[in-house]
Amino acid sequence: MIKQVDYKLLPVLAAKSETQWKRFLQKNKKKLEGMDLKVHSLHDTISERTDCLTCANCCRSLGPQITDKDVERMAKMLRLKTSDLIDRYLKIDEDGDLVFQSTPCPFLGDDNYCAIYEFRPKACREYPHTDRKRFYQIYNLSIKNASTCPIVYEVLEEIIKL
Ligand code: SF4
Ligand code: SF4
Repeated sequence: MIKQVDYKLLPVLAAKSETQWKRFLQKNKKKLEGMDLKVHSLHDTISERTDCLTCANCCRSLGPQITDKDVERMAKMLRLKTSDLIDRYLKIDEDGDLVFQSTPCPFLGDDNYCAIYEFRPKACREYPHTDRKRFYQIYNLSIKNASTCPIVYEVLEEIIKL
């Protein structure tokens, strides 16, 4: 069985590979545009063998962007008024986006479970985005995410072999 990459090693590993990943994009822009099926297949295979509960690095170190719909859904689950949810847990960041007041996320448990899993923000559900349509559009963002998420790191490492 292939061992999951330890998220603690990712900043060093991703920094080592970054030049290669960028070179791949420069040389294969057109090819990458037609690679969604292959990238999604890599995403599926790598996600299946990755245990997010032993990682939770995204919940620990990134702040998801939160939409009005997310606020309504979370408030309903927590039986709070939306204004109370915002006061208690959310803030506007320097880019003007609504985000959690703190990282790690206030809903991340010591066991790495999400306390609001069924009602978590859309951005949490979609992370790490390696199954997104037109993946080439977020290739550069994925290079950034590779120092946080083992799935993204492994997907990028496999793409350059295709
Ligand atoms: S999505 Fe990535 S960073 Fe988040 S818990 Fe899973 S493996 Fe870790
Ligand atoms: S809401 Fe849940 S999934 Fe989203 S960052 Fe917090 S703990 Fe993670």
